[in-house]
Amino acid sequence: MKKEFSHFKPSEKRLTELSKETDDLEFCYEALKKVSRSFAVVIQQLPKELQDPVCLFYLILRGLDTVEDDMQIDQIEKEKLLTSFAERMNKEAFTLKNIGDTQDYQDLMLHFDKVLRVYHGLAPQYKEVITEITDEMAHGMNKYAHEKVISYADWDDYCYYVAGLVGIGLSKLFLASDLEKSEKLADKALSNEMGLFLQKTNIIRDFAEDLEQDRVFWPEEAWKGRVEKLEDLQKNEQTGLNVLNEMVINALNHVPACMDYLESLEDKMVFRFCAIPQLMAIATLAELYNNENVLHKNVKIRKGRTARYFMSINTFEQTKTEFVKILQSLSKQDPSQKVNNILTKVNAYENV
Ligand code: MG
Repeated sequence: MKKEFSHFKPSEKRLTELSKETDDLEFCYEALKKVSRSFAVVIQQLPKELQDPVCLFYLILRGLDTVEDDMQIDQIEKEKLLTSFAERMNKEAFTLKNIGDTQDYQDLMLHFDKVLRVYHGLAPQYKEVITEITDEMAHGMNKYAHEKVISYADWDDYCYYVAGLVGIGLSKLFLASDLEKSEKLADKALSNEMGLFLQKTNIIRDFAEDLEQDRVFWPEEAWKGRVEKLEDLQKNEQTGLNVLNEMVINALNHVPACMDYLESLEDKMVFRFCAIPQLMAIATLAELYNNENVLHKNVKIRKGRTARYFMSINTFEQTKTEFVKILQSLSKQDPSQKVNNILTKVNAYENV
């Protein structure tokens, strides 16, 4: 999973301090704030019944990812830790010392027993989903410790493990809660695309930041043959923009599936929890498209837009209208007509 880069450091207490003065459940929500401020906000949109399962789902996957991202651990040891993670978390409330590449992540693992005790108290149908997804994600992490993302198909596969599985797990949690009933939520392909759309948006947006830290998430197929090294896209601006625009359009191809998914949701709060990040993603893609700043620095979407979505989005119709508006403006800038084809699919989406 890609991490959020926190550009401002909140002056709050460290998790280790908080672990002494908060109970296990409170600790989980404090930890969530530390490791993902934006997710900690969106989770409050969920119905009460789903908040704890989704919070624990996120923290456990974050724990797994903390192991994966720690470059100090020996590779064999890491593979063992990842492969045994799901089974072990169901047997014991374990902690891990000196694992994690930032203080917050180290603290999370040091007090992971608090997270796991809350997890153990969840209803069995939730634990089953969390276990299944954790195990499969660990499998994918081990796979990509050895394989590179070359083609767009590899990119989809890689994103399936780090984000698609999160979408699939969330859908299963919604169904397990009985708040959602649509069979579309059991369609893994649809849930996968919900995750892929968000993940690809982040990967495209973070190009410059990732490059600076020697991390490459853009598939070679997008740029090999056009430039020799990925960083050459910064020097050849037109080529850089061509690659960027192709990547944005690749991500936009997930929009019709996202509409299909969102339309099937019945609970208004679950709907908002799912729709708001998707709206933020498409608004982000609209700002990234043909924007040479992406090649050189971090481009942020305007805060006002996020606030507006939080305040105003309640229904599928509103969401679709917003998507159509953004696709129309992108379509005007896209000579390849590909955005227009996506727009046509979204517009034809009338079974509401
Ligand atoms: Mg990782």
